[in-house]
Amino acid sequence: MFKNIDFEDLTFEEALSLSSEKNLRAICDVANRIRKRYYGDIVTFSLNVFIPLTNYCRNRCSYCGFRREPGDPLARIMSPEEVENLLIRGKKAGCTEALFTFGEKPEEKYPEVRNLLEEWGYSSMVDYLYDLCLAALDVGLLPHSNPGILEKSEIEKLKQVNASMGLMLENCSERLCGAGGPHEHSPGKLPESRIKTIKYAGELKVPFTTGILLGIGETVKERIESIFTLKKLHEKYGHIQEIIVQNFTPIPGTPMEKVPPPSLSDVMLTAAITRLVFRGEVSIQIPPNLNIGRECELLTSGMNDWGGISPVTSDEINPNHPWPTRQKLEKVTRENNFRLVERLPIYPKYIQKGYVSGKIAPLIHELADEKGYRKCEN
Ligand code: SF4
Repeated sequence: MFKNIDFEDLTFEEALSLSSEKNLRAICDVANRIRKRYYGDIVTFSLNVFIPLTNYCRNRCSYCGFRREPGDPLARIMSPEEVENLLIRGKKAGCTEALFTFGEKPEEKYPEVRNLLEEWGYSSMVDYLYDLCLAALDVGLLPHSNPGILEKSEIEKLKQVNASMGLMLENCSERLCGAGGPHEHSPGKLPESRIKTIKYAGELKVPFTTGILLGIGETVKERIESIFTLKKLHEKYGHIQEIIVQNFTPIPGTPMEKVPPPSLSDVMLTAAITRLVFRGEVSIQIPPNLNIGRECELLTSGMNDWGGISPVTSDEINPNHPWPTRQKLEKVTRENNFRLVERLPIYPKYIQKGYVSGKIAPLIHELADEKGYRKCEN
């Protein structure tokens, strides 16, 4: 069917020409064959305790239902004690990962945040985060932080206490930051800044999670450009361990509440093209809580990872989409002839490559089995 296309080394033009719903089945078949060659019947996931450190944020994305303004009764920064309690609950529930996520650089914009941090003895969220990561390690959890865009020195500091880190590229189109775009009021969503952060993480050998967000007004061409932007970064630095193909879901009360979400075909086609572009180099992750009831189809698109689910906390970024339980994820994966395997926030390949700081290494070796997945608990 695709006689003139070299699937071993897909070009941007070829990927774009394939990105049509009429090719969906055929492209998914090719993607699925590649997935099988590199990952067999294994689909991975991780168990995390999701820690929404603060919902203050200097950005204002049109689809966000998480961020809060000062004065809002739900605006908050979690105190060290609150975080510690959550960490302990996470450990008791069998998690291996402390997933720190929060609004970007809120201290730049809000005196309330600066004052509170100062009261606790910190001059920035990154400094505060560093100590919380140490607390997670003390409890026996591996930190994975998503603090937004960062300076190289900040990543260098956080690398010491994180098993892996993350930043969604979302999309490489500057157009989405223009007037009327979803990122018009979000300086941190400028593609150039995000690409720079992903590049710094590569220079510093940080195992990295990134991804694209589908359905926020981007064109198909911009989606493919975003996949190739990530490919270029990975070719240079080799640090991207997983790419999340995340579907936008409208949240009531946000400016984009009436925008229709991307179709299942859109998600499958994008996951399949990402697999074709990256072949076996990175895991392709699709969030299960945003796709309940569509798992059977998605598992045929070349994906091989469900990402993190939290048995302790809810997904505050997508409050109407609770995570499935481990049992449910196991059942749906098995019913589709795959094997669910628990991994750590750092993938086996990056443990082998030694992308691990001295502070993190002992806990990784305690939690990992000989293949680098999570050791069975007995
Ligand atoms: S989506 Fe993230 S960066 Fe955008 S406003 Fe919400 S918290 Fe901030």
